[in-house]
Amino acid sequence: YYRRADPLGAAGDFTTAPEISQMFGEMIGLWCAEMWQRMGRPAPAILAELGPGRGTLMADLLRAARMAPGFPAALRLHLVETSPALRARQRAALPGLDVVWHDRVESVPDGPLLLVANEFFDALPVHQFVCTPRGWRERLVAVGADGRFGLVLAAAPTPMAALIAPALRDSAAEGAVAEVSPASIAAAAAIGRRIAAQGGAALILDYGDAQGRGGDTLQAVRRHARHDPFDAPGSADLTAHVDFARLAQAASEGGARCHGPVSQGAFLERLGIRLRADRLRPAAVPGSVDAALDRLIGPAGMGTLFKALAVVHPDLGPPPAFEQPDAMDSA
Ligand code: SAH
Repeated sequence: YYRRADPLGAAGDFTTAPEISQMFGEMIGLWCAEMWQRMGRPAPAILAELGPGRGTLMADLLRAARMAPGFPAALRLHLVETSPALRARQRAALPGLDVVWHDRVESVPDGPLLLVANEFFDALPVHQFVCTPRGWRERLVAVGADGRFGLVLAAAPTPMAALIAPALRDSAAEGAVAEVSPASIAAAAAIGRRIAAQGGAALILDYGDAQGRGGDTLQAVRRHARHDPFDAPGSADLTAHVDFARLAQAASEGGARCHGPVSQGAFLERLGIRLRADRLRPAAVPGSVDAALDRLIGPAGMGTLFKALAVVHPDLGPPPAFEQPDAMDSA
């Protein structure tokens, strides 16, 4: 799906936070600049982004990064992106900058790291399991008599069932559904190991529960509407809720410290998005800044469902916006 074309924006299938407003990437730029200063202002420092989409977040981040003297010049940009169409968009969004692209986070070179991933983990594949009287059975994709794809239950246990969270695995009722994302766990573990060994901080923003509650969260979206995942495969965006507790566990096992998740609304408010909105409002189309603010931080928009998780070297302490717990997270 991602390899075919650029799926983002009003004319595409879905819209993400950086495409709603420049304020989103700018707040993340301030967060990165503060973390770079706490890291002792390393030069060079690697700035990596996973799944950078159109490159909008990175362009906005780098503009805000100019607030910290020496920070932009210290940065070496590494983008993890598998889509040729989106790599071309990223190239165009970052004119004149040296950028190195990678297929996987594991190939980003060694060194002090700042890493950002917005709506990357939700795009990674999940395995689903159903709790049956004979144990957990994986849902597999099969071709039915009518020639269409559909779901069937595996006849026997399959290996990925070992990744189901123990709390869910041992206490689920018959019919319960569990999801695991081995690719997400591997990426979070790689980030945690790297940060523990070489220093740095990562910011993971996505939608999902603070504690994975189980359930079937796979969804397909096409032209901003829900879609049957098996109808015209490859034409719709497939995503699943991110299990932040599972990502934090994987990153912590590598030796990094995790903070949060805090809701996206709390994260952006604590970084000062309302002050930024005040600055942008006079020159903007009337109402546009407040509409964007509402989508980014309001509970009916992305403010509560979306969350931010920080993965940092243990010496750095709680990052900006993660110092206090977030009342909304227990919701
Ligand atoms: N961060 C952007 C785009 C989110 S869409 C934004 O917020 O607008 C998901 C992004 O992850 C796309 O850039 C997509 O091409 C990329 N992606 C999806 N699966 C990937 C994978 N397995 N490896 C690397 N990039 C991937």
